[in-house]
Amino acid sequence: MEPIYLDNHATTRVDPRVLEEMLPYFTREYGNAASRTHPFGWRAQEALERARREVEGAIGEGKDSVVYNSGTTETDNLAIAGVAEALRERGNHLVTTAIEHHAVLDAARSLEKRGFAVTYLRPDRTGRIGEEAVASAITDRTILVSVMMANNEIGTLNPVDRIARVARERGVLFHTDAAQAAGKVRIDVEEMGIDLLSLSGHKVYGPKGIGALYTRRRNPLVRLEPLFYGGGHERGLRPGTPNVPGAVALGAALRIACADMDGEAARIRGLRDRLHLAIAGGLEGVVRNGHSEESLPGSLNLSFDGVPGEALIISLKDIAVSSGSACTSTSVEPSYVLRAIGVSAEMAHASVRFGIGRFNTEDEIDRAAAHVVETVSRLREMAGSRAGRRQRVAQAGGGG
Ligand SMILES: *Cc1c(COP(=O)(O)O)cnc(C)c1O
Repeated sequence: MEPIYLDNHATTRVDPRVLEEMLPYFTREYGNAASRTHPFGWRAQEALERARREVEGAIGEGKDSVVYNSGTTETDNLAIAGVAEALRERGNHLVTTAIEHHAVLDAARSLEKRGFAVTYLRPDRTGRIGEEAVASAITDRTILVSVMMANNEIGTLNPVDRIARVARERGVLFHTDAAQAAGKVRIDVEEMGIDLLSLSGHKVYGPKGIGALYTRRRNPLVRLEPLFYGGGHERGLRPGTPNVPGAVALGAALRIACADMDGEAARIRGLRDRLHLAIAGGLEGVVRNGHSEESLPGSLNLSFDGVPGEALIISLKDIAVSSGSACTSTSVEPSYVLRAIGVSAEMAHASVRFGIGRFNTEDEIDRAAAHVVETVSRLREMAGSRAGRRQRVAQAGGGG
């Protein structure tokens, strides 16, 4: 049997409506949007620009503020390396957080090797980054603040509008990784004061390998050094033949998500709370990681006291979820996000990230909850009886 899919932070299923809109751009309208001499190229170009208006509409910003690329990993790298390169005369310091996605953290580390200094702010117990912490980290040498809108492991939303204001007051650019937030919570880059923003299609029921970078075009105009060179497409920020089907799908995915954002958020939040209630009602020693209010609607991260982490994730066979352990090449490490918010290594290992999405049903949630309660209870019994046996053996050994 296929497990119940509850890993919507990792990726989402393509919405059939999105797929339907993108299909003609593989078969009938397959022109190169850069071809200027025939209708195949013109129609591809029109589709590309129509979709661009939809992406811009989803983040509340005007014409030609968005360029397409392969997704948030690329945009995070471009925002960080591109701003650093363009502004290196002005300063060599960046402010970010300890709980960013690897795309931001690794890009920042690579800058450290090239003479930049980076401050990694620690969040509070709920995963929030306060604007005061950002304000006190900014120096005269700071050129960029990068703080994610919503965290991919615990779902906590950051007060990016207040953080952006603090950065702006000091004349520092503000970038936000909105891969998890786009299409799920309301975004208005103008109102929120965001200068650069990253998003990906596949986190919002679109395909993988397409994403977008927003850069502010006035007050101030954001200048970036590109990562790649070759042909000047996408304002020179992302040269290469445009991915027209992907762009059409990205536009459709964001339009669909924004059209019923409140309704969908309410439904998914209802499923999330139902799952939480059923698990917490059936088990003791369940701790929620993250923020109880300021959170993505579909996020639920739970730690289970007294359960060995590896056994937990191996035993949860009927549901597709992520665990609070990450396998590196040499060892199994507890999640750096959970560690940063003060969760013990043991409780981080014994954690599960549930990501509820558009296509989950009440029935799936009820079956998933029952499976978790049953599995955790069984693992605890086994762990308990083993511990009891060890104790008895030790006592029998005498002298002990
Ligand atoms: C998924 C994700 C990314 C990476 O996106 P890709 O589409 O894989 O490049 C970056 N940041 C966050 C917060 C994410 O959730």
